[in-house]
Amino acid sequence: MSSIFLSPPTQQIHSDITQSAGVELSVLRLDLMHSWVNGNKWFKLKYNLLEAKEKNFTTLLTFGGAYSNHIFATAAAGKLFGFQTIGVIRGEERLPLNPTLSFAIQQGMQLVYCDRTSYRQRNTTELHAQLQERFGEVFIIPEGGSNLNGVRGCMEILKDAADFDVVCVACGTGTTFAGILLSLTQKQRAIAFPILKNGTFLQQEIETLLQNYLAADLPIANKSACSWELICDYHFGGYAKVNDELLNFCQHFQQAHGIPLDYVYTAKMFYGVMDLLKQGFFRKGDRLLLIHTGGLQGNMGK
Ligand SMILES: *Cc1c(COP(=O)(O)O)cnc(C)c1O
Repeated sequence: MSSIFLSPPTQQIHSDITQSAGVELSVLRLDLMHSWVNGNKWFKLKYNLLEAKEKNFTTLLTFGGAYSNHIFATAAAGKLFGFQTIGVIRGEERLPLNPTLSFAIQQGMQLVYCDRTSYRQRNTTELHAQLQERFGEVFIIPEGGSNLNGVRGCMEILKDAADFDVVCVACGTGTTFAGILLSLTQKQRAIAFPILKNGTFLQQEIETLLQNYLAADLPIANKSACSWELICDYHFGGYAKVNDELLNFCQHFQQAHGIPLDYVYTAKMFYGVMDLLKQGFFRKGDRLLLIHTGGLQGNMGK
């Protein structure tokens, strides 16, 4: 199943900022693994698709906003691996469809719109029962692929990555981060950058994910977790909010290093790391790994 994906390259970044901070900075390019099913979303889908196959489901149903990277990736992965897909989209239909939803339809995804109030029920058994009644036997994947299968897949993100001391990740639900934490050793550190406003609630969410994962008796690389922290100062006003400073940063970063960043997630994390480097936050000699979680399709709608 993984054979159609490139193993993600690691790219070193040299700049005045890294030099004066005395650190080595590398980027793990999950954005280059596949044209469509890229970034962390593939890792979160992998074991969900395997479970669906194993249980003989032919249809996947999942949830997302109109610009969702997860909807985009699920539509493409469904097509690649021979599943029908249904996307339950938050809010009203807006025509013409944006690039994300047009792509989803091209991949054969059926879109169903759901008002914001009902959408809040997306993780309840009541809504799931209603959906099963309407669409028949469907394998339900939560929004963002954020379940223990998702965590399990994300434990594989760093499989081929070289040695480093600190790993940095942009964080929405914390699922990706939880998987990464479970794959690091005690000597390493990890930093999550929530891209939502008031991201401190993620501390508890991530701890719960880790506990649930360990309790579920799923495969695990390192039981003695590494140290980790959240840095909540780089949300730029909240989910999908941007300002000129962030947009300029992306433009300069791409020009200087040839790496495009998405505005919702990776731009904020990369900005945060560069800012912290200027403040002397990291130790001299630290080898940092920034995970490029993909999501570039989302820039098309901006
Ligand atoms: C979904 C997404 C994230 C956040 O992943 P979580 O597991 O929800 O924390 C980060 N980066 C990109 C590009 C994403 O699409």
